[in-house]
Amino acid sequence: MSNWSRDYAKCRSCGTDEKKHYARGLCRNCYRKQLYWDNVQKERDKRKEYYDTNKDKVKAYYQDNRDRLLRYQKTYYLIQKYKGTGK
Ligand SMILES: [Zn+2]
Repeated sequence: MSNWSRDYAKCRSCGTDEKKHYARGLCRNCYRKQLYWDNVQKERDKRKEYYDTNKDKVKAYYQDNRDRLLRYQKTYYLIQKYKGTGK
């Protein structure tokens, strides 16, 4: 068994022992990936937490946006229609 890192013989994620150990039993590549996914996960948790504590606010916000979107689609449809009759 090689001494890749203090606790691991190879990278926990990709299994390499050719790249240098970076942190947490991961090579540099995998550590950066891990860090990225940690952040993604944290963002998700934050958003979920925000949603759980502000359900009504979030719902109202999306409802508002939906109304706006529908209005926009209607306007756009009318414009297309008028353009079509001009031919
Ligand atoms: Zn790795």
